[in-house]
Amino acid sequence: MENCIFCKIIEGEVPAQVVYENEHVIAFNDINPVAPVHILIVPRLHIPSLNDVEPEHLEVMGHLMLAVKEIARQHEVAAKGYRLISNCGPDAGQVVYHIHFPLLGGRQFGHNLVRKS
Ligand SMILES: [Zn+2]
Repeated sequence: MENCIFCKIIEGEVPAQVVYENEHVIAFNDINPVAPVHILIVPRLHIPSLNDVEPEHLEVMGHLMLAVKEIARQHEVAAKGYRLISNCGPDAGQVVYHIHFPLLGGRQFGHNLVRKS
């Protein structure tokens, strides 16, 4: 989709440190990491947010979850644990309206959620 930064990364028009990709999913390092492992996992298909996931997206969303597992294994956080996030809408602080799942790992996280700064 035009003017979508993640679509531009997927198309190769904007550079990113890609750490994983397959037919359905691409994953790249966040440019402002808040943990030793901070990877954005994104479907190649432009779906704006969780509010826009439809039954026709079952296959791609399933592949996305399998990618989460594989990326966690490759970055050696699978056993120790990691956090997977998806911000949906303005109150959650969603900035890019192309659904994405930040995977955070390599340090401990508390039960409290991220506060607005
Ligand atoms: Zn997009």
